[in-house]
Amino acid sequence: MSITQFMPNGTIHLYRNDLPEGLTLGPVVAVDTETMGLNPHRDRLCLVQMSSGDGHAHMVQLIPTSRGGRGFDCPNLKRLMSDPNVVKLMHFARFDVAVMQHYLDITVAPVKCTKIAAKLIRTFTDRFGLKDLCKELLGVELSKQQQSSDWGAMELTSEQLAYAASDVLYLHALWAKLEAVLIREDRLALAESCFAFLPTRGRLDLLGYEAPDVFAH
Ligand code: MN
Repeated sequence: MSITQFMPNGTIHLYRNDLPEGLTLGPVVAVDTETMGLNPHRDRLCLVQMSSGDGHAHMVQLIPTSRGGRGFDCPNLKRLMSDPNVVKLMHFARFDVAVMQHYLDITVAPVKCTKIAAKLIRTFTDRFGLKDLCKELLGVELSKQQQSSDWGAMELTSEQLAYAASDVLYLHALWAKLEAVLIREDRLALAESCFAFLPTRGRLDLLGYEAPDVFAH
């Protein structure tokens, strides 16, 4: 099943349970997820949004089976998220990686994170939200109005879909800006090392090693 919705800034393609066969999204795919809440053990994965950076957002709505929220049957989505030749570009990848590793039972890699990139270079500020970065670096105003809404609903509203799409449509442009500064400030190798650790960070978080953190004293 697939629904197409046109918006001012891009086109939304909504699929149920998996990506369609044969869809390719290029070597760098922007990815975001929506869940029932912020605790991956309690709050199930509801939606995975993706974009190749061309203004199209492809979204997979995951409908739980009677067995419960885990073990979604989505071979195409799982293949993409674990494909060693496709970079998954996210904002605060730590959360999305952990959630997808938990609910799809895969290792999500390789990954890049625009929030880590911003934190490594924008040491003159403490504002690292996607909304703040899109406004400052791209001049794009994102609405976060639908952030806290019922993502488990069977029929997502057009406002929810537009919000979900906006979380992936600008990540390529944002990364291009951030990467240029990472290179300028000689922090790109450090950023890549942090990104390489993200699948492990996700596993640590799922096992409860986030508080106290294993790196804390
Ligand atoms: Mn989002």
